[in-house]
Formats: sequence, structure tokens, C-alpha cells
Amino acid sequence: YFILLIITIPRLISTVGKTEQWKSSLPTELSTNNNLSEKLINDPKALEEASTDYGNLVHDFPAAVFRPTTVNDIATLVKLSFNSSVPFRIAARGQGHSTRGQAMARDGVVVDMKGLRERDREGVKNNIKMKNVNEGIKVFGDSKVGYYVDVGGEQLWIDVLYETLEYGLAPVSWTDYLYLTVGGTLSNAGISGQTFRYGPQISSVHQLDVVTGKGEFVRCSKQKNSELFHGVLGGLGQFGIITKARIALEAAPKRVKWIRLLYSDFSVFTKDQESLILRKNSKLDYLEGMVLMHQGPINNWRSSFFPLTDHERILSLVTQHRVLYCLEFAKYYDHHSENTINKEIQTLVQGLNYIPGFYYQKNVSFVEFLNRVRSGELKLQSQGLWDVPHPWLNMFIPKSRIMDFNSGVFKNIIQKRNITTGPVLVYPMNRNKWDNKMSATIPDDEDEIFYAVGFLHSSRFDNWKAFDAQNIEILKFCNDAEIKYKLYLPHYSTQEEWRNHFGPKKWKSFVQRKYQFDPRMILSPGQRIFNNN
Ligand code: FAD
Repeated sequence: YFILLIITIPRLISTVGKTEQWKSSLPTELSTNNNLSEKLINDPKALEEASTDYGNLVHDFPAAVFRPTTVNDIATLVKLSFNSSVPFRIAARGQGHSTRGQAMARDGVVVDMKGLRERDREGVKNNIKMKNVNEGIKVFGDSKVGYYVDVGGEQLWIDVLYETLEYGLAPVSWTDYLYLTVGGTLSNAGISGQTFRYGPQISSVHQLDVVTGKGEFVRCSKQKNSELFHGVLGGLGQFGIITKARIALEAAPKRVKWIRLLYSDFSVFTKDQESLILRKNSKLDYLEGMVLMHQGPINNWRSSFFPLTDHERILSLVTQHRVLYCLEFAKYYDHHSENTINKEIQTLVQGLNYIPGFYYQKNVSFVEFLNRVRSGELKLQSQGLWDVPHPWLNMFIPKSRIMDFNSGVFKNIIQKRNITTGPVLVYPMNRNKWDNKMSATIPDDEDEIFYAVGFLHSSRFDNWKAFDAQNIEILKFCNDAEIKYKLYLPHYSTQEEWRNHFGPKKWKSFVQRKYQFDPRMILSPGQRIFNNN
């Protein structure tokens, strides 16, 4: 014992010394608050993680990482900053799946929402998940009033899926990838192939619990505190930290027919996409599309779909045309209607003008379909290719200019630069499914339809700038051609650009909401909207 004490006491003293040293570099109010300081972490690993995101392009180090165990912890932290003589910046971090440092807080505090998620999962024992053990996800309702789920902002959509399926229910609007947090996607919009029909994920939200930039806990909906509700949805984390969201549920299907069709002519491809999303009968449940290029593989991490036996003939078609377009749609069904669904699909496809013979179909479970990106992720992770730079560019393009975009970008810039190999998405959505009172921004065009276009590039650490240069060239082309695009998952370096992004009217209300709910400019500084230094 004596020897043990001789060894450990000096070690303890030196740790205490270091802790005190570390705390003195924190904002004073924080370092002296005992309740909070025990949830603050400054070990190099945590700081490193909080200064990295999926993009791997921006690295801003916080002074500390905060792991809350209650919502109250978050409110106390924000209130402390709000009441400080010099407030410190705070960013909620969901999964850090942003690509441009949006969930970082240089010299401030990153709230690692994982802390709450881990608390909620304590009920999971020996890896066996029991029904309704996740305290952060609770299903309510009945067949008369409808069903909904109350979900912590820290929760992952994959867990929301599994939990709601226990009741035979599921949300209607998704993202392509489910290991994202509810708070993170609702701060953007949350889009995928269901958006044309059900709107973005922000359209399915009934109510939110939010900790504002003043540290106040506020419940809001369309009827109550509606300014905050509309501000937070698509609000890029600027007005409050979402601690809970009430999301609409519907009966979940069991199976999915998943179809891909190939096109060589962009106008025929988009005409078919548009006719499918405007159908009144036998509506689809999901529609997307992608661009296949001669320099890239035809299957990618987003989904491996085409059978190996067909790779050669698809590749020779891509080589012949240099660019192909792949229309992708899905229809949900239950086991008992297998025959009817086959007939329905047949009728649907008969009216489409894809290249004859290039029709592909899969029959998968609902979970397999929604979680389709996961296996690609795991494969890349095992090859060390997931945590690489991701210079992504996501845009909304008005329908009236999508043909110009095709000739200027897909057929010209991308071909000329010859570096794009990752997924390039292009699919239409309906304007009337977006609520303009919410902060999320779409093109101002008159058209009912606009297109989502996503260049989901992965690059080596030494060549991401080549992709960024391509992104800049694409934006320059659009500006020169006066294509009135909007960025999705936007990032800008000046306030002038942010003002243009929102447009004069929306910018005015965005700024007003900021002064109302986060007047000291504390929240989500990594978006670089109000604190651009
Ligand atoms: P983070 O990156 O951690 O945070 C995003 C922003 O929201 C930050 O500003 C942060 O401070 C703020 N924030 C985080 N949590 C909260 C909260 N609780 N309250 C308030 N603000 C908060 N998006 C789509 O729409 N559709 C897709 O199909 C899609 N697919 C993707 C696939 C992959 C592989 C990846 C990496 C991303 C994809 N995304 C998609 C983008 C995704 O929506 C964004 O990365 C989004 O930010 C969610 O990620 P996150 O939960 O990690 O949030």
C-alpha cells in the first residue's frame, strides 16, 4: 500500500494541476461552475474529434467539449454564456456529418449530443435491445388522432426507424443515409426520394422543444411560438438547440419494389422523372436519379445495385454516350399485394422512355431499402476510405434551367475536368411541399418543380482542392448563365453571400429571428452567418 501511495499521489497532484491549468483557459464563468465543469472534456482526442467533420476540410478547435446528460445541462450552459460579460460560442454537434465545419465552435464549446444518446441507451443490456427501452424515442397516438413520435434531437434516424417499427409505424420522409441526427437534419431540411411526395423532413414536424440562445427552454409549433418553430426548421442551428421533435408517423410497409432505368437523353430522363412525381394515381413512394459517367464505377457506396453480369454492357453504353442518367424509383407494398404491385409497376414502366433492355428491379425489405447506404459505408470504413475529404456540392436548380445545367455542367465542366467518380444525384421535387415560413430556402422561381443536384465527392487528402475548384467553376457557370440556384447544406464566407442566399425578405426575417432568439450570437458559429471571424 505504501509503495502504491508513493506512486499515485504525485500523479494525482500533477493531474489536478493540469486540470486547473486547462480550466483557466476556459471562459471564467464556465471553469468555475462546478455542475457544468465535470461534464466538460478537454482531452486531445475529444478536441480533435470536435474539430473534424465528415468534410475533413475545415478544422476549428473548441476550448472544450461538453457532454450533457440532461436537457437542463444544455440550458444551463447556454444561459451561462448568455449572461457572461463576454459570451462564449456554442455549437451542438449531432454526428458531425457536416462538410464545412458547421458543427464546430472555434475557442468555444461543442455540445456533443452523443452524451444524451448514450444516456438513453442505458436500457440496452448485453446488446439485446428491449422494446421501448430508448427513453429518447417514444411513440404516441391512436388511429383516430393519428400517430407521432417524440424524439430527442440527439437521436439517430436509424434508431427512430427501428423504434417506430416496433409499433408497425414509421416517419414518411427520410434522408438517404440514416446515421444522422434528428436535430442535425431538421436544422437543414432533410431530403431524399420521398421529398417530392411528403416534403422534406421539416414538413413532418408537429412540435419542437428548443433551448434558445438565451438559455430558455421553449416548446413551439405552428400554433404556439410559431416564429421560433419556423425559424428553427432549416435554421442551420441559429436560433436554438433542438432537444425534442414531435414527428408524424404512418403505417410502415413491409416490402419495397426498387427500380432503376437507364437513359441517354437528359430531356427524356427529366420528362419521365417529372411525369412520375406529378402522377395522381398509383403514386410512387420514392424517386431519385443519378448521373453515370464514363470515368466512374457504375455501383458506388450509395448503393450497389446493378448485377455483376450486366456491368460490362452498362459500361460500354456509358463509354458510348459518355454520360448516362439513371432514374430510380420505389414503391412500397405489403406481402399480400405482391401480385398487384407487379402489375402496377409494369403499367407504370410501360409509359416510360428508358433505353430498352436497361430495366433493373430489386425486391427488398423496408428496412433494407431505407438503410441502403449503410453497407457501402461499412465497406469504405473497412478500407479506410470513409474518413477522407468530402468536398460536396449540393444545389437546388429551377426546373426551367435544368437543361442548361445539364449541358453546361454534366456534359461540359464535369467531362472536361474528368475527376468526378463519386455519386452525382439529380432528382425533382414539388415546391408546394415546402413551407416558405420555415428557414429552409429553395429557388424563387415560378415553377412548381425544382431539382436537387448533389455532387458527393470523396477525394484523397492531397487533391480535394481540385474538386473545390470544380465546385467553384460550377457555381460560376450558374452565376454567369443567371441560373437562380440555391445551395443545400449551404456554406459561404461573407454575410453578403448569406443575404443573397436567403433573398431580401427571408434574410430580414432570419436576422430578426436571430436578434429575438440568439441576440448574443452564441449558437452554431461554424455556419459563419453572424460570427464570421
Ligand atoms: P451536424 O453536422 O452535427 O450538425 C449540423 C448543423 O446543425 C450544425 O450547425 C450544428 O451545430 C447543428 N445542430 C446539430 N444538432 C442540433 C440540434 N439538436 N439542434 C440545433 N442545431 C443542431 N442530408 C440530406 O438532407 N439528405 C441526405 O440524403 C443526406 N445524406 C447524407 C449522407 C451522408 C453520408 C452524409 C455524411 C450526410 C448526408 N446528409 C444528407 C447531410 C446531413 O443532413 C447533414 O450532414 C446534417 O448536418 C446532419 O448531420 P449531423 O446530424 O451529423 O449534424
